[in-house]
Amino acid sequence: MKAIAVSPATRTIELIDHEPPRITAPTQVKLRMLEVGICGTDREISAFKYGTPPPGERELVIGHESLGQVIEIGSGVSRVAVGDLAVLMVRRPCPHPTCLACPHGRQDFCYTGDFTERGIKEAHGFMTEFVVDDQAYVCPIPADLRDVGVLVEPLTIAEKAIAQLWQVQQRLPWVCPVAPGERPGYCHQAVVLGAGPVGLLGAMALIANGFRVSVYSLESTTSPKAEFARAIGAAYVCSATESVERLVEQVGNIDVVYEATGASKISFQLMEVLGTNGVFIFTGVPGRKAPIELDADLIMRNLVLKNQVVYGTVNAGRAMYEAAIEDLRVFMSRWPTAVRSLLTGRYPLTAYAELLLGELRGIKNTIVFDREPSQLSPHTQQRQSRPATT
Ligand SMILES: [Zn+2]
Ligand SMILES: [Zn+2]
Repeated sequence: MKAIAVSPATRTIELIDHEPPRITAPTQVKLRMLEVGICGTDREISAFKYGTPPPGERELVIGHESLGQVIEIGSGVSRVAVGDLAVLMVRRPCPHPTCLACPHGRQDFCYTGDFTERGIKEAHGFMTEFVVDDQAYVCPIPADLRDVGVLVEPLTIAEKAIAQLWQVQQRLPWVCPVAPGERPGYCHQAVVLGAGPVGLLGAMALIANGFRVSVYSLESTTSPKAEFARAIGAAYVCSATESVERLVEQVGNIDVVYEATGASKISFQLMEVLGTNGVFIFTGVPGRKAPIELDADLIMRNLVLKNQVVYGTVNAGRAMYEAAIEDLRVFMSRWPTAVRSLLTGRYPLTAYAELLLGELRGIKNTIVFDREPSQLSPHTQQRQSRPATT
């Protein structure tokens, strides 16, 4: 079967012929991949910044943002049935019984670092035709999410971040007053830093959770990303023209920052203006560059005098996949056009080189399997027929 694989040893990335996986245990599920999303992680693996093949192998099949259809199940499978659509989880537990997290199914909090991640670390990923996995890592999704189900995995980042936010803020009275006949919430101001897929999905999740949201990002106020923000009811503030001080003037006390850029300088500038009882959530992973200057005294004073909390969050457990699936349905009922507009390009497997190594464009690009160009929407056909060499 066809697969996209990197060989770190020879620094190559290729369309390879890979041995198809077989079910070897009663609780395993075999899926046909339908669509696989591409993100910054895939591009960084393709630049050989990280990415480790399974032990004893030269190649790593990449891809971790999946949407598949179940085509075969082992005799002990109860979570899914043949024909179901499903999304696969990424991280697998470490083998150490002493790890406090992994034996409880919370490998997203693994202590030892010896976890594996499909498509990233020591386990093959999903940018291939068929995948086998244990049902413990297979999350069924409703058929009506066929078009956008590939967004579940990137959405789990926001789901885990927000689940922790509610837990953290149980430390204080944080419930908004509800006027008679009104919905609860909507008194807390969140700022989403960055308007990539993680940021825009985070903005939708925060709004669905009752936050007022402003997206703060480099793109101009007339860019498609700014339009997207306004379409879902967020404000959009351009970080290229508006300083963090101006941002605060516009939005007031910042209760939450959801960072989704991986850019440290602007992140810490924004941390300097985090509000009273505010929470700053990091999701980005910056490359190591030269040290930056920041007003550490101010940040430390604020952390203490304003009861602030800072945390980072990575990966997600099964409950967060289930929350993402539920929220994606909510998003589709509220903003169907906007959600679909996140998927800016659908390409065949053969377009892998442009997608992984070419110039970054659009919002979320995906590889689709098993569909002739005629079955794709006119929008994607047009994109497909114009190979990405810009
Ligand atoms: Zn990703
Ligand atoms: Zn562990």
